[in-house]
Amino acid sequence: MNDRSALVLFSGGQDSTVCLAWALDRFEHVETVGFDYGQRHAVELAQRSIVRDALVGCRDWGQRLGPDTVIALPELGRLSETALTRERAIAFEDGGLPNTFVPGRNLLFLTYAAALAYRRGIPTLVGGMCETDYSGYPDCRQATITAMGEALALGLDYPVKIATPLMFVDKAGTWAMAERLGGEELTQIVIEQSHTCYLGDRRSRHPWGYGCGSCPACDLRAKGFEAWRGAQSTGTV
Ligand code: ZN
Repeated sequence: MNDRSALVLFSGGQDSTVCLAWALDRFEHVETVGFDYGQRHAVELAQRSIVRDALVGCRDWGQRLGPDTVIALPELGRLSETALTRERAIAFEDGGLPNTFVPGRNLLFLTYAAALAYRRGIPTLVGGMCETDYSGYPDCRQATITAMGEALALGLDYPVKIATPLMFVDKAGTWAMAERLGGEELTQIVIEQSHTCYLGDRRSRHPWGYGCGSCPACDLRAKGFEAWRGAQSTGTV
């Protein structure tokens, strides 16, 4: 086991791109894992390799970035009737959760990632879970991740750790973190290549990147970008 290595749960979105940069900044060897669970738009998955290729040119990260693994979980898409896996409008359910919530998704992702990490002798998983921005996703909360880390370490009898560098960071902070880690070069990769839009729209280019501009994911990304740029211009970042 090499404690200088990490496995990043990497979707190709803004948060996991910044998490991948965070890991490349700290660990000597970084691998990525992604999941194909029948997302209704495959754009995010397609952007994964484009973002990875772009990160190879940042800092000395090309020497640190190891292989990528994509795990197919089609049953997860079949089990979940959510707006991320079906052609349904994005809305809030009676329980207060958005219908983009895929029940159990992050728990399954972490379990599969831990199984891969075990095989590859990697002790640290890195994920972009965040409880700061409003989504209400219960599997993104610190309490869930702490419990999951304990369950995995016990169940695998392997000292696996889950690092969540964005847990208490808002979207403006995520943009600022990208700049701290990789400067303008990384923020440009995040803008141009990372994909967040729930509708898979890459036709319209906004100052913050591509997306429909109106879904909850685009809204968060846009507001975070504006807040970060505003803080930059007043020298508070
Ligand atoms: Zn959108």
